[in-house]
Parts: sequence; C-alpha cells; structure tokens
Amino acid sequence: MAADLKAVTHVTELPDLGNAAPTILLAEDDPVTRMLMTRLLKKAGYEVDAVSNGAEALDRMTHRYYPLLVTDWEMPEMDGATLCRTVRSMQLDGYVYALLLTARDAKEHIIQGLEAGADDYVVKPVHEPELLARLNTGRRILALEASLRAANDRNRILSITDSLTGAFNRRYLMEQLPRELDRCRRYAYPLAVLMCDIDHFKRINDGYGHTAGDDILQQFVARIQNSIRATSDWLVRYGGEEFLVVLPETSYANALSVAEKIRQVLAATPFVTRAGPVPVTASFGVAASGVHGPDLTLKVETLLRTADESLYRSKEDGRNCTTGIELATIKALLANA
Ligand code: GH3
Ligand code: MG
Ligand code: MG
Ligand code: MG
Repeated sequence: MAADLKAVTHVTELPDLGNAAPTILLAEDDPVTRMLMTRLLKKAGYEVDAVSNGAEALDRMTHRYYPLLVTDWEMPEMDGATLCRTVRSMQLDGYVYALLLTARDAKEHIIQGLEAGADDYVVKPVHEPELLARLNTGRRILALEASLRAANDRNRILSITDSLTGAFNRRYLMEQLPRELDRCRRYAYPLAVLMCDIDHFKRINDGYGHTAGDDILQQFVARIQNSIRATSDWLVRYGGEEFLVVLPETSYANALSVAEKIRQVLAATPFVTRAGPVPVTASFGVAASGVHGPDLTLKVETLLRTADESLYRSKEDGRNCTTGIELATIKALLANA
C-alpha cells in the first residue's frame, strides 16, 4: 500500500477529542506555580505532563502528540512565544491549541503572543474559572479540527477507492504508479504489474443476475488481497471486471508465480453468491521491468499496455491462464536486431 494511505489510517487513530479530556502539556519554570497549576488542571479532570521550559516542551512534543499546550511566557532556554512559533512550524499529528500565560497584559505584548502562534492567553495570576473556560474553548476547536480531519480522510478514501469492492481506483493508479516506477528505478528494484480479467463475466451476469455478479466482484477482490503482500502490493479495479495488481520489488519470474497462485486460488473453489455457488476463472497478463529495475525509457503506459497485451494473449489461448512479457527482454531483442 502506498505511503499516503498509511498516513490516512494513522490520522484516524487520534484520540476522540470531543469527549475525553485531552492531556495537557504544561511548560512553567517556576516550581511552585508549576505544582499549583498541575494540581488545578488535574482537579479539573486533565492528565498533565509538566516541564520547566520551552525546550523541554518541544522535546516532549517530538515523542507524542499533545492537543493542548499551556505555556508560561517568561522561561529560561526557550520562552513561551518562541515555543508557540516553533510548534506552528512543525508537522504534528493534529492541531495543538496553545494557551499562553503572561504576567503582562499590555495590548502590544498580547498581540505579540498571538502573532507568535498562541491561540489565546490568560493573564497571571491565573483566575481558575477563566483558565478552565478558555481550555474548554480550546477543546471545542480541537473537536472541530478532529472532525474536519476525519471527514477529509473519509473523502480521500472515497476519492481513491472503488465503492463496490474497496480496491483502489484508476485515479489512484495514475497518481501512484508513476511514483512506484520512479522509486523502483531509483533503488534498482524490479517492478511488475499483473492485469486480470474475469472470464465470460457477461455470461455469469446473464446466468446468475447482476447482483450475483457484484458478489463475485467483491469476493474476487478479497481473494486477491489475501494472496498478495499487504504492506507493498496493491490492487486496482481497472475496469468493470478487470483488475490490476502492482507488485513492487518483484521480478518477472516472481510475478508470474504470483499470477499463477492467484489464478489457482480463484479457480479452486466456486464463489458464494446470493444465486448460489458460481465457478469463476480469470485470465492474467504480466508485465515486468528487468530484474535490475526499470530503465530510463520505461513508461507507465508501456507497462500497462504490455500487461494488457499479455492478458489479450491469455484470452486468445483459451482463458484461465497466464501470459507475461519481461520488458528488459524486449529491449535486449531490439538492441540485438
Ligand atoms: P472475456 O472472457 O472475454 O473477458 O468475456 P467477458 O464476458 O468477461 O467480457 P465482456 O467485456 O464482454 O463483459 C464484461 C461484463 O462485465 C459486462 C458488464 O456488464 C460486466 N460488469 C462490468 N462492471 C460490472 C459490475 O460492477 N457489476 C456486475 N455485476 N457486472 C459488471
Ligand atoms: Mg516564568
Ligand atoms: Mg472478462
Ligand atoms: Mg473486461
């Protein structure tokens, strides 16, 4: 699976900021104030990790995500405003709502803090109900941000997958295959794709009904997913009953074995549909770069066209079989011609 989808699933694991009180990172250099603030926040139901300056706070933030940051302004090593500015420049797992504690309430001072990246401020000595009310405001904003992020993640998944089968769609293929090709070229790993197409699917639809056909498409994808490497291989619904498996770091010979394994898994047992069991076979076309990786001339279109031509040969040869072409071989043949 490609990297950006991993990011998508990672983000959905964020804590539910709408309900549970989030952990607060508290940065305060004065030990007595730090102790009192910690006690106050804990009494209000928050988990608190307390540190004594901005540099320590930053160190903590590189190890885990803190949705709420409460920071004193005046501190040794790194002050609160610099901490806020630095946090805003970092790539973190979610938004950090930063509340600045300041002993000075002059307008220019407060503007300076907000411009540094603080979301809000509380003037010291801290008035407890005011602090808690401002933290609640922060939690509302964090909950909103988390729901927007989740909606974005859902939209991203919808935009790159096929709704019937859950396989990736063509848009994702055309976005990711060039990257996969570049990566394999850079590291000199072979890259293979295999195209497969269900045999006589029109007849199956006609004989068992279109909804039974849909059942088959879903199980077809599930059987292929179970036969490929979950971490690196990925599956695309290329057309109606035509699929493409991308196999990075896979040689031509290995790709042929993968295709044969999938072909046999598909043919071995009938598919269970609402219209009863249906025997299904598919034909395969493999295209792969040479074993030392794609050369500079190899294009995504060539890889796809070659897989399609191989698939066509499998159909011509009677279906339920695998044909393949190693693109390095073609290049070598042309060079020798
Ligand atoms: P071949 O062995 O040559 O591939 O024959 P075929 O019948 O599989 O190929 P053809 O291209 O003639 O027919 C493909 C069929 O796939 C026709 C179309 O209705 C069906 N199909 C495409 N998308 C879907 C879908 O989402 N659900 C169902 N049930 N059928 C679909
Ligand atoms: Mg201080
Ligand atoms: Mg077909
Ligand atoms: Mg087809």
